[in-house]
Amino acid sequence: MWTEIARQIANATGSPFEIQDRRSVSGGCINQGYALIGKNCTYFVKINRPVQVEMFAAEALGLRQILATQTIRAPQPLCWGTTEQSSYLVMEWLEFGPGSGAAWEAMGRQLAHLHRQGQGTQYGWERNNTIGATPQINPWTDHWADFFTEQRLGFQLHLANRRGGHFSDTILEAIRQILGDRQPQPSLVHGDLWSGNAAVLVDGTPVILDPAVYYGDREVDIAMTELFGGFPGSFYQGYNRIWPLETGYQQRKVIYNLYHILNHFNLFGGGYGDQAQRMMHQILST
Ligand code: ADP
Repeated sequence: MWTEIARQIANATGSPFEIQDRRSVSGGCINQGYALIGKNCTYFVKINRPVQVEMFAAEALGLRQILATQTIRAPQPLCWGTTEQSSYLVMEWLEFGPGSGAAWEAMGRQLAHLHRQGQGTQYGWERNNTIGATPQINPWTDHWADFFTEQRLGFQLHLANRRGGHFSDTILEAIRQILGDRQPQPSLVHGDLWSGNAAVLVDGTPVILDPAVYYGDREVDIAMTELFGGFPGSFYQGYNRIWPLETGYQQRKVIYNLYHILNHFNLFGGGYGDQAQRMMHQILST
């Protein structure tokens, strides 16, 4: 497998690549991560089962579209494919640093620029992708409330009920009413922006990793930054300096984060089911 991956790296770069060392990188939720060290260059490689190659193809396309906006740093994907035993995605190696308040402020500003510049005409994306290991379905849709209730919450809720959850469908109609006629600009969103997917490089440049992109309400990204751990305060100052959040965000935040909590129930089970029920209760009572 590694010889084949090294050959594909050489093909993609046009210069020979020989593996001198390989180290496992921890921290991934879904894939095995490795540093692949050559004489002059190191790459970050994600490995999974062969059937997951589509997931890697979608991740690479998402990274390329983020990079094409020239607003915020993300790892440059190099190549992806399958070998007999696995699928792989190779991208540039990044060196992370501690990250100052100023760097997180820049992260906020640059994310706002991504949201503003990455502009679509409908909600959805050109292909399906994954959120964690769960499929994320992205048909082009005209109305935001339809897209979010059906393709995001409805999809996860039905999956959760097939996996032993007891969630009532009525929440979907209630949320459709709350979102109502809201038609935000379809922004290219990261889609999975928890603190593990945002970092600062050694030179202080902010970087976003591991996206699950689509065109949607930019607030989905801000909501998720508040979910697992939260981002430093300077991040929000930077974001609001470029594109302030709108009235009603605090209420929509719970709706948008319900998607990720249902997904966590589907991926990991446990207490996420209770958390989802509490969020539904909160949504219905505000
Ligand atoms: P997964 O798809 O399995 O969730 P991630 O993309 O979150 O994997 O990456 C797992 C860990 O690997 C990250 O937390 C980070 O520490 C490290 N990592 C991710 N991308 C790079 C990169 N381009 N260069 C160096 N390390 C990386």
